[in-house]
Amino acid sequence: MPTRILFLFSDTGGGHRSAAQAIHEAIDLYWPGRAEISLADFYVEAFPPPLNRTGALYGPMVNKADWTWHMSWKLGEYRGVRGPLWRALLPTMKGRFVRLIQAHDPDVVVSVHPLASTPMAVAARALPQPIPALTVVTDLVDGSAAWYDGRVNFTYVPTEPARDKGLRLGLEPGRVEVVGQPVSPRFQPFSGDRAALRRRLGLRPDTTTILIVGGGEGMGNVYDTARAIDASELDVQLAVIAGRNATLKEDLDAFDWTAPTVVTGFVRNMPEWMAASDVIVTKAGPGTIAEALIEGLPLLLSGYVPGQEKANVDYVVNERVGAAAFTPATVVDTLREWLRPGNVALDDMQARCLALAKPNAARDLGERVLAWGERSRRERGLPMTTSME
Ligand code: UDP
Repeated sequence: MPTRILFLFSDTGGGHRSAAQAIHEAIDLYWPGRAEISLADFYVEAFPPPLNRTGALYGPMVNKADWTWHMSWKLGEYRGVRGPLWRALLPTMKGRFVRLIQAHDPDVVVSVHPLASTPMAVAARALPQPIPALTVVTDLVDGSAAWYDGRVNFTYVPTEPARDKGLRLGLEPGRVEVVGQPVSPRFQPFSGDRAALRRRLGLRPDTTTILIVGGGEGMGNVYDTARAIDASELDVQLAVIAGRNATLKEDLDAFDWTAPTVVTGFVRNMPEWMAASDVIVTKAGPGTIAEALIEGLPLLLSGYVPGQEKANVDYVVNERVGAAAFTPATVVDTLREWLRPGNVALDDMQARCLALAKPNAARDLGERVLAWGERSRRERGLPMTTSME
């Protein structure tokens, strides 16, 4: 019998679902047939009403009044706020999480969202036959304190600073490990014919290419930034990805570009767009940063979601794999400097991106999750296909 794995995610931003899917893809690719995997939106399915409807507020809060999001994020950093909140909510949530987990009947349950870890850990222990509960932190550096709960069996984090935060919040050193940000195994360092790839994407084969994105939802000042680069007379072409933001796509399509420009909505082949580009201009999303590192693509960060993404900016700057430029004018200035004849900054950053990247994180996490699940089956005397140990 395959090992059964349940991921608890929610669509607050695109990153949590894609992190779960990345581990799912890696397990199917490297250990086919060994696992049966399901994903549940715990926020919608297990939070009590009316709380279960508040997840939908994340997008509008971040897009329209990011200070409201920043305030709630900041409040969650205080133990004096988190503790009483969980104490008030857990008695109702515990039963709901137990029922959600039982409906999937997994051997191991994995949280890829800060608000799932605590109720998951409590519920997994309350099952008639307890199962291991794991957290995979998918914020790069300064994820919400809510990610870290000593009651989960193990916490996997993407970077050293994320581990340090977990330790500061009381995790035992032996139960937290730096593995990396889970990114789809489709992202691998590019080694093919870049000119041919560009042609296939409708780009010029030999022109310096600036990729502009704003996460899955096309957030931030993508339009103004693209227009400023277009007006700069830099010798570049633009690839502008609007994600699921239909209005942004319409505005971009309607503009009369001077520079060679390709505009597209949500793409499913992001590895190719990144491999075809020389620089990415993006908000500081953890998924996009981890993917760009794998593709050796220097990052120009044009914005961040306040709270969990602010420290991602410092991470990129301190590791010297990119820079921050929060206005269209400074984006242009930085590009002009990077592209100045004789400047080797882009080559240096590209090398550091590749050195910092963890392209196998999803596989490594898949291996660990599968091992926890198989041990759980064995300990409960259940039949197994094969074992990793
Ligand atoms: N993405 C994509 N197609 C698009 C735009 C974005 O597949 O057209 C993916 C991108 O590769 C990344 C995710 O969406 O995996 C965005 O995650 P990130 O953590 O950067 O930001 P979020 O959207 O969660 O704020």
